[in-house]
Amino acid sequence: MQLPSHVLKSTFGYDHFRHHQADIIEALIDGDDVLTLMPTGGGKSICYQIPALIRSGTAIVISPLIALMQDQVDALRQLGICAAFLNSTLNAGEQRQIENDFLTGKLDLLYMAPERLLNEQMLHLIGQCDIALFAIDEAHCVSQWGHDFRKEYQQLSMLHTRFPNVPRIALTATADQRTRDEIITQLSLQQARVFINSFDRPNIHYAIEESGNSRDALWQFLEKNHAEDAGIVYCLSRKNVETTAEWLNKQGRTALPYHAGLSQDIRQRNQQRFLREDGVIIVATIAFGMGIDKPDVRFVAHMNLPKNIESYYQETGRAGRDGLPANAWMSYGLKDVINLRMFTENSEAEEQFKRVMLQKTDAMLGLCELTSCRRQALLAYFGEVLAEPCGNCDNCINPPETWDATIAAQKALSCIYRTHERFGAHYIIDIITGKDDERIQRNGHNQLSTFDIGGEHTGVEWRGIFRQLIAHGYLATDTEGYGVLKLTPKAWPMLKRSETPQTVMLRKLRKVSKTKKRKTAAATRAVLQTLSTQDQALFERLRELRSRLAKEQNVPPYVIFPDKTLSEMATVKPVNEGQMLDISGVGEVKLSRYGEAFLNEISRLQSLGS
Ligand code: ADP
Ligand code: ZN
Repeated sequence: MQLPSHVLKSTFGYDHFRHHQADIIEALIDGDDVLTLMPTGGGKSICYQIPALIRSGTAIVISPLIALMQDQVDALRQLGICAAFLNSTLNAGEQRQIENDFLTGKLDLLYMAPERLLNEQMLHLIGQCDIALFAIDEAHCVSQWGHDFRKEYQQLSMLHTRFPNVPRIALTATADQRTRDEIITQLSLQQARVFINSFDRPNIHYAIEESGNSRDALWQFLEKNHAEDAGIVYCLSRKNVETTAEWLNKQGRTALPYHAGLSQDIRQRNQQRFLREDGVIIVATIAFGMGIDKPDVRFVAHMNLPKNIESYYQETGRAGRDGLPANAWMSYGLKDVINLRMFTENSEAEEQFKRVMLQKTDAMLGLCELTSCRRQALLAYFGEVLAEPCGNCDNCINPPETWDATIAAQKALSCIYRTHERFGAHYIIDIITGKDDERIQRNGHNQLSTFDIGGEHTGVEWRGIFRQLIAHGYLATDTEGYGVLKLTPKAWPMLKRSETPQTVMLRKLRKVSKTKKRKTAAATRAVLQTLSTQDQALFERLRELRSRLAKEQNVPPYVIFPDKTLSEMATVKPVNEGQMLDISGVGEVKLSRYGEAFLNEISRLQSLGS
C-alpha cells in the first residue's frame, strides 16, 4: 500500500500535511466515518482525494455545485488522477462512457450532485461497483437554518443504511455548533470521528468602514490595494450589482455582474471568465460564491451589511484560499443598519426563530462598531479564543479614535422622545440640525426644545451617531417596516435628568475623499510584495506562460500551478527537474507535463538578465 505522505509528495507536490489532514486520511483508510470542519482554503479536498487513491475502488464525491464539477475534475486530471463527473451537462453518450468506466473500476473519483446519487438507477449501479468512500462536500447544506439548504442532502443518511461498509466523510467550512449537530444527526454520523480545525484565516486582513456603501470608498480601497487583482464585490440588490459593475467598467476595471435575475447562460459565462481570466472583478449578490474554488481571489468587498456573522465569515472566506495575503473589506452606513434591523423585525418567522435572528443581527452590528481586534471577536463568536490581538485587522493596525458622545446621544434620544417615537432617522436629524422646511413647520417641530440643538455636528456625523446608537442598542426600529426609531429600555436612563447618564463612547468618522480617474496602474498584486523587483518580473513572465498553457487546454490557470508555486519558482529559480520537484505544488505528473516549459522560461530570463 502507498503511504499517504508519499502520495502527498508525488502526486500533489507538497511536503507536509496541514492541520488534521494526516489523521483524517488515516481514519478513512481504516474505514472510519469522519466529520471535518475546516476553514475555506484549509485543504479539505486532499482529505478524501488521498484515501480515494489509496483505498481500492472509486470514491464518490457528492457536491451541490454542478457548475464547478468540471473545474474540480480538470484540476485532478492535471495531477494525473482518473476523475470524472456525472451531471446534466453531459450528453447521453458521454454519460454512458463514464458509467462504463465506473463499472469497470477505471475511476479514482466520481463527482455528482445528491439528486443524481439518490436516483434508484444510480444506487443500483453503485451497488455493483467497488466503492472506496463517500465524500459529502458542503455538508452544511443539510441544515435548514442556513441559506444553502438542500432537501436532498437530508436523504443522504440512506448511504449509511444501504452501504454500511463504505466509509463516509462529511466536509464543511461552516463553523457553528447548531450546524455541526444537524450534520451529525441528519447524516447519521454519530459514530464518526470529528476533526475541528481552528477557523482562523490569518492571511485575511479584515476592515470595516462606516462610509455608507460609497463607491468612492470602494474605489480607494481597490486602487490602494488591488489595482489589478481578482476579487468579489457583494451588493444587496440586483440593481446595485448592475450599476456597480457598470461603474467599475467605466473606471477601467473588468467587472462582471452575477445575480439570480441573470440567465443561467450569462451567469455561467461570467463565472467562467472570473475563474479563467486574470484580474476580473465579479460584482454579485450572495447568490454567488458557494464552493468557488478559485484560490487567488485577493479581496472580498461588501457594499452592504451581511445579515449575520456566519454569512460574513463565509463570504469573506472566499478570499485568499491560496494562503497569500488577502483583504476582506466592508463599507456600510446608517441605512444598512436600519434595513438590517427592519428586515429581521418584520420577518414573518416564528417568534423563537426571530429572536435568534435578532441576536445574530446584533452580533453583526456589534462587530462593525467594535473598536478592538476584529479577528478576536470573530473567532470568539465561533467559540474560539485568540489570546492576543491579531495585528492584521483595521482596528489593530489603525486603532479607531473614540469620543465622548454622551451629550450628542442625549440630544438624539430626547428628540425622538419629544416627537413621540413616530419618525425615522433622517427626519429626526433634520430637526436636530435645524432644517426649517415645510414638513417640520407643518408638524410644529421647529418649536421643539430639541430643534436646531445639534449644529456642532454635520448631517453626516449625525448619521454616524444614529447608526451607532442603533448598533449599541439604544434605538430599535418599528415592526411595521417604516424605519421609525423607537427608544429601548437601555435609552431611558439617558433621558432622566435625575440620573447621571452612562458615558457613551462612539467611533470617530474617517474621511473618504472623492474618486479621481485612475492614472497609473500600480503593481499592487499582493503576492508581489514578498518578491524582489527582479523576481517580480520573472513571476509575471511565468504567469504569462501559465495563461498561455491554460488557454490551450481550456482550464483555469490555477489548475496548472497556483500563484504560490509560481512565486516560489521565481525566487528559487530551479535549473533542473530535481530542483523543480522540490517546489511546493510540483508533483510528478505536473513535472512531466510542464516542467520543461517552466525550466526553459526561467533559464531564458536568467540569461537575459545576466
Ligand atoms: P478547501 O476545500 O478546504 O477550501 P482546498 O482543498 O481547495 O481547500 O485547498 C486549498 C489549497 O491548499 C489548494 O491549492 C490545495 O492544493 C492546497 N493544499 C491542501 N493541502 C495542502 C498541504 N498539505 N500543503 C500545501 N498545500 C496544500
Ligand atoms: Zn486584529
